[in-house]
Amino acid sequence: MTTALPRPPQPRIITVSNQKGGVGKTTTAVNIAAALADAGLQVLLIDTDPQGNASTALNIDHHAEVPSIYDVLVDGTPISEVMQACPDVDNLWCVPATIDLAGAEIELVSLVARESRLSKAIAAWMAEREEAGDPRIDYVLIDCPPSLGLLTVNAFVAAREVLIPIQCEYYALEGLSQLLKNIDLIRTHLNPALHVSTILLTMYDGRTRLSAQVAQEVREHFPEQVLSSTVPRSVRVSEAPSHGQTVITYDPQSTGARSYTDAATEIARRGAEQKDNA
Ligand code: ADP
Ligand code: MG
Repeated sequence: MTTALPRPPQPRIITVSNQKGGVGKTTTAVNIAAALADAGLQVLLIDTDPQGNASTALNIDHHAEVPSIYDVLVDGTPISEVMQACPDVDNLWCVPATIDLAGAEIELVSLVARESRLSKAIAAWMAEREEAGDPRIDYVLIDCPPSLGLLTVNAFVAAREVLIPIQCEYYALEGLSQLLKNIDLIRTHLNPALHVSTILLTMYDGRTRLSAQVAQEVREHFPEQVLSSTVPRSVRVSEAPSHGQTVITYDPQSTGARSYTDAATEIARRGAEQKDNA
């Protein structure tokens, strides 16, 4: 258990997004979620990627028949009926994604209020908890697929904040302006509160000039958003999911675990300070 972190004044709903695949979205979502929960905060992670990698990393059953985010989005099943407790981390819950979700992109097209189904489900779930006297949730993190289809749009409409992981490698910034444009479009048309609150530099390799250059460039462009903690490239981070673990539980003393804990600490402290950030 790490030191306790401050609770945000309001539940924070953060979507972890980047249209590029393999940049560390899922790794960031599960490890930030685990670090926040480990510090005593109440956290829900919603997996909206049909690959279900976040569900795997949290050791959450997500074979084809398991009730999942698909049921929430397509059939309107309440979140409370599909979420599962993470077996290895207290205070952490997960709405899994199963392979069914691959079809949801298309099925959603013909549904009413197709862009705001996740948003409505989260609001209903929070109201349900409040009514039941359950502990207030502090963080909802949404792990997105690497595309701007209806699943990602649902995440953008449900969230207030976007967390962008940026891989410190060549081409890291490619596609970023497209992502920002898409966030602007969502803000204009669907969710005026949406903003990029946090950028995390991942797979940072201190031995290369390239990593330092990418980091410097991102910090110049986004001085407010970039966390001072960076996540190094680390074998322990990449091994953890194959054991159904986050690196926070798999090897708490590793540099990967410590840097994700530091990043989560920064996120929580910023959120506690900025009352309008929630
Ligand atoms: P995305 O969700 O954006 O597709 P992932 O989080 O799945 O990206 O990461 C892509 C790959 O990189 C995975 O195999 C993951 O284990 C690995 N990876 C992510 N972060 C790190 C890191 N800090 N060090 C080493 N490997 C990493
Ligand atoms: Mg992913």
